[in-house]
Amino acid sequence: HQCVAFQTTLEYRALMSQQIHFFDLTDKELAETFQSFGLSKFRAKQILDWVYAKGVIDPNQMTNLSVKDRELVKNKLEFLQGVAVKHQVATDGTQKLLIDWALSGNSLSVLNNQEGGSESQTECVMIPAVSGVGSHRKTACISSQVGCPVGCSFCASGIGGLDANLTTGQIVQQVWQLAQLDQVGRISNVVFMGMGEPLSNFNAVTKALRIINAPWGLGVSARKITVSTVGLPAQIKRLAQFDLPITLAISLHAPNDEIRKELIPWAEYVTIEQLKDAANTYFEQSGREVTLEYILIGGVNDQREHAKELSVLARSMRCNINLIRYNEVDGMPYQRPLNDDVLLFQAILQKAGLNVHIRASRGRDISAACGQLRHEHSK
Ligand code: SF4
Repeated sequence: HQCVAFQTTLEYRALMSQQIHFFDLTDKELAETFQSFGLSKFRAKQILDWVYAKGVIDPNQMTNLSVKDRELVKNKLEFLQGVAVKHQVATDGTQKLLIDWALSGNSLSVLNNQEGGSESQTECVMIPAVSGVGSHRKTACISSQVGCPVGCSFCASGIGGLDANLTTGQIVQQVWQLAQLDQVGRISNVVFMGMGEPLSNFNAVTKALRIINAPWGLGVSARKITVSTVGLPAQIKRLAQFDLPITLAISLHAPNDEIRKELIPWAEYVTIEQLKDAANTYFEQSGREVTLEYILIGGVNDQREHAKELSVLARSMRCNINLIRYNEVDGMPYQRPLNDDVLLFQAILQKAGLNVHIRASRGRDISAACGQLRHEHSK
């Protein structure tokens, strides 16, 4: 069925002489596309190799293709959508790209001072390992939507609501583009923790997961890919059927529904009990433990009683817990937690026998940390 739908789109695009976004396609789809252009399947393999293995997107440099084939590829395929309008490097080596999807360009250069707007821009971040610890680790934190429909009260990304879903190609392209930055080479981990609620863009995200994981694609191990959701029980259960063993992270951020509703508007419609049920289904069907993400916000959800309440909840689930210190955002009424409170919170969970980590905040000096994305630019 998918194939028929794809062919129809393909024929439509061919009819309208529109270019097809390379990063939208699986290997099979690229081979079918090439056949419809009169090119052999083997050419599709060669191009996958140029782009994913060698990092080359300029058809002129694809030297094992004839000049005629290179022209055809140039006319029919678009390699990069949007334009990187800003590239920042933090003191800890974290790098951030701001991409404007409304601008058209097909080059890796960063064009500063381009017209555009935050309603067509997303950010993605490359986070290298802290020296000595897992030194080959390079994590891409990517966006799945322009803006975010959830609008958490502590987060910059949801301020203006949702502007658009990103396509599969735009999601995959972010990982590829981050891999091309200086000192990167290969992305080892991918987290969907940038802008957007990935499970509300389900089809585009799950197809992107396949391309990010595929050996002919970005080759990132499924276990090193994390999809983070604020919690849509029906979609979590749908993801439980997905055949790649990715990690599911649920942004819990509160030990009870009352506090959760203050922080996450969608908690009005979904209770923690329903999330627990969906998470347990996910574990039963995928065999993968769920990660609970918990942003510690000073005085709001980081006290002793909150830790105790969270322990009781977490002990009834198969999960790991990540604690994240809140990063202040200008104009928002929340504060970073005190260090003593964070350590006590962790100790209480550990005493209850839970597996808990404090996640380091990276790239704070370029506003690349959790919840800070896009705000700086749209101010
Ligand atoms: Fe959206 Fe996540 Fe920000 Fe909430 S924390 S508004 S879900 S991007």
